[in-house]
Amino acid sequence: MNVDCAVVGASFAGLSCASALARAGLRVTVLEKKGDPGEKLHTTGIIVKDAIDQVALLDGLPAELVRRIDGVRLYAPNLRYVDLAAPGYYFLATDTPRVMRWLAARAEQAGAHIAYGKLFTRAERVQSGFDLGDLGTARFLVGADGPSSRVAKALGLGRSTKFLFGVEYEYAGAQLSEPDKLHCFIDRRVAPGYIGWVVAGVGVVQVGLARRIRGDRWTASAAMQALLEKIAPLFDFRRTQPTSVRAGMIPCGGLVRPAAARRVLLVGDAAGMVSPVTAGGIHTALKHGLAAGHAIADYLDGRKDDPSSWFVGSYPRFRIKRLLRFLFDHFQSDALFDLLLGTRPMRAAAGIIYFHHKGVFDPAGGAPTVRAARPKVEETGSG
Ligand SMILES: Cc1cc2nc3c(=O)[nH]c(=O)nc-3n(C[C@H](O)[C@H](O)[C@H](O)COP(=O)(O)OP(=O)(O)OC[C@H]3O[C@@H](n4cnc5c(N)ncnc54)[C@H](O)[C@@H]3O)c2cc1C
Repeated sequence: MNVDCAVVGASFAGLSCASALARAGLRVTVLEKKGDPGEKLHTTGIIVKDAIDQVALLDGLPAELVRRIDGVRLYAPNLRYVDLAAPGYYFLATDTPRVMRWLAARAEQAGAHIAYGKLFTRAERVQSGFDLGDLGTARFLVGADGPSSRVAKALGLGRSTKFLFGVEYEYAGAQLSEPDKLHCFIDRRVAPGYIGWVVAGVGVVQVGLARRIRGDRWTASAAMQALLEKIAPLFDFRRTQPTSVRAGMIPCGGLVRPAAARRVLLVGDAAGMVSPVTAGGIHTALKHGLAAGHAIADYLDGRKDDPSSWFVGSYPRFRIKRLLRFLFDHFQSDALFDLLLGTRPMRAAAGIIYFHHKGVFDPAGGAPTVRAARPKVEETGSG
């Protein structure tokens, strides 16, 4: 393998970057340690509307791979809730394994080569780029290898130090009575620094949580058990075996520094490009992955300078969201959320967090009203 660009990681960031490079006519190989891009996922896979609007790569995403979610039901720690939505806004729940394979197929159709079962471990600088040992040579290297980036480590680039830990159970064949909402649970004990969630995905119900990691003594399964107990009056999955588990680290401290050096660039989670508040990183990984591919192609074709000197300036800084992360980390209070649910400050925060500043309204009309949750047992098809 002697290529123009080696991209490490065949996920959202790496596949979008490789698609752009290949479409520009460059020789690009994606090195992926897994044997299949759809296996061992560590994401809920919810794609925000902005990504659908802004990322051309998602045009043509087959309808059967997604489900539209129109709003959020936000539960206070005492389980009272408000329904929130924003004009024209939605999320897409996805059949994530198949979305990953579809993205990989698009990169290959564009001309990228994806080398599965290839673990990147090291890179040595040579005159014309990098020597990757048995994996060949590359003129440019992209680290799209997630939150514990080996590319960052090998090349002495910045690495994330602040994380949430996310874990999610999948229940194949289960159904929710309110499937068009993303159900979000605030509870400092169960999900400190973040939330728990229940969402009807494509053919599965996904129940998960993320916790801020700071001397955390809870295991993932203990935290999930606490969540399942908490939500049991509404969604009872306590006696249902999950069909699959997704779990992983989520950077929440903003961009790493430096995120680039001569002929090498980090993108996606490797660059810390995840919203410190929502923990969403798919949109940014796709958008900046594509842009990185274009920038590298321009450099390798001699039209622009090395993107390490200018491109990283276009990465999101998350200034407001880093402030919200700080406040959530230090002042999260269940009593305050019980009190503030449905109020103007809470709606303002929800507008920033869930709907990208697009305002908040109650789908039932008027200002969001606080309602008591009605206990209900969900139908589950998985026994
Ligand atoms: C539980 C959980 C739920 C989440 N839910 C959402 C959500 O609903 N919506 C959202 O927007 N974001 C969500 N996120 C965040 C989102 O998943 C990430 O931001 C996104 O996956 C980042 O994509 P990426 O391409 O940068 O990296 P990743 O998706 O982490 O992919 C990295 C790839 O690199 C490969 N790799 C790693 N090391 C090597 C190596 N040394 N050699 C070769 N290959 C390697 C991995 O196998 C993997 O394929 C969630 C995260 C977690 C943990």
